[in-house]
Amino acid sequence: MHSPTAQAALSETSLKNYIGGRYVNSAGNEQFNALNPATGEIICNVQQASEADLEAALASAQAGFQLWRKMTGAERGRILRRAADLLRERNDELATLEVLNTGKPIQEAIAVDIYSGADCLEFFGGVAASIHGHHYQFGANFAYTRREPLGVCAGIGAWNYPIQIACWKSAPALACGNAMIFKPAEMSPLTAAKLAEIYTEAGLPAGVFNVVQGDASVGQWLTRSAGIAKVSLTGELSTGKKVLAAAAETLKHVTLELGGKSPIIVFEDADLDSAVSGAILGNFYTQGEICSNGTRVFVQKSVLEEFLGRMASHAKRIRIGNPLDPQTQMGALISPEHGQKVMEFIERGKSEGARLICGGQRAMVQGCEAGWFIEPTVFADCRDDMTIVKEEIFGPVMSVLSFEEEAEVISRSNDTIYGLSAGVFTRDLARGHRVAAALEAGTCWINTYNVTPVELPFGGYKQSGMGRENSLAAIEHYTQIKTVYVETDKVQSPY
Ligand code: NAD
Repeated sequence: MHSPTAQAALSETSLKNYIGGRYVNSAGNEQFNALNPATGEIICNVQQASEADLEAALASAQAGFQLWRKMTGAERGRILRRAADLLRERNDELATLEVLNTGKPIQEAIAVDIYSGADCLEFFGGVAASIHGHHYQFGANFAYTRREPLGVCAGIGAWNYPIQIACWKSAPALACGNAMIFKPAEMSPLTAAKLAEIYTEAGLPAGVFNVVQGDASVGQWLTRSAGIAKVSLTGELSTGKKVLAAAAETLKHVTLELGGKSPIIVFEDADLDSAVSGAILGNFYTQGEICSNGTRVFVQKSVLEEFLGRMASHAKRIRIGNPLDPQTQMGALISPEHGQKVMEFIERGKSEGARLICGGQRAMVQGCEAGWFIEPTVFADCRDDMTIVKEEIFGPVMSVLSFEEEAEVISRSNDTIYGLSAGVFTRDLARGHRVAAALEAGTCWINTYNVTPVELPFGGYKQSGMGRENSLAAIEHYTQIKTVYVETDKVQSPY
């Protein structure tokens, strides 16, 4: 059954690949369904890119690249900024699609997801005209560097922030003069295609941004193809390892945005209400399906019980409901399989001795009986060796641990293979900076959590990733430097 709300926002019943500036019927005949996680309804079917489609996307991207790289940065920037304006104008339509396809609450998608993508296009639209090399003097001789694009880049997305991820990858790539083939996650295929339409409407030449649909096999094709210069993945650690290994065959440039098991440290002098709000934000926003979430909450022993009391009363007030209801604060997890996996973690937490403070159950939502809604879940008395403390859950499950000393909590915080982010709550700012410096994480927040403006680099230490997205740092990852040395005199032969 096709959802009427989805149809109003989508207008197509079969989503095609977007190649060469338009939707193209697949040369193959494999299809899959885009589902509404809250209801289990089919939103539309999606044409999986066949090998012939992928070859066509590559040829189109290569042709687009030759045109695009010759345009000035200012021209490229204007198109990106126009696309940013179009994204903002269509916020309601795009946010609705994002909610239908991910299960996240509409209040989040309306306020953050599309605007964050638009901010990214605007930022890199502004940067495009200032990407430049350097000049060097060697007596009468000189040299200069050119900062050149890499070529055709592949973007491979996760399902939790579909349009934001497509923007975070495409905007810097395009600003630097590259073309991109983007593959959204198979569970959230809709809005990347909408982004492609918007780029075309903003004046992007055909072929510069293509969207191919499909599962891991499409991602594997992109990662293996010799015609692709770079791959940027957002996904799980295990996928990151496979992508890195496959990219090694053709020595592609690689950016990886992977998982995390980030710490939030609450010192006894912290503003406790603020710390509770930060931990709520860092665990239950988007049903906990956020890579940077601070799922290991270390609270100094003297304020632990007070923290847990305030946390439980706050968490219980979170409204679970139909994601399209503007009052809903927590929506549906992406799929029944994922919901069941999160419930298994909760059972494991109980059986390994963690104390359930609140939540822990699947919640039923009227009209969304097929959806997997899970109550905001808080465990106390957690130990560092518990499964829920060690493994990424990607759901609304917070583990609270107690600590006594600063050095101890730094060492325990760093005792993980991941290093995406970390939070410190304290009124002692000298300590805040000292602890942030000692934490092994790509982003540290002091007295807040999960704030990611496009001006700032975002990415992981250790096994949370390689490279950085956003900010001027992303330019490094979508360009290569050519050195040109110029002799102004006659060359003397040494022989
Ligand atoms: P996933 O790794 O299962 O899939 C991510 C993408 O990779 C999908 O498009 C998938 O089709 C593709 N893929 C899978 N196997 C592949 C292969 N062998 N070669 C090429 N492509 C392949 O991840 P997911 O379940 O979609 O997303 C959740 C994960 O993403 C979590 O671990 C989360 O922490 C992480 N994530 C990280 C960030 C970040 O910025 N660091 C942001 C969001 C999500």
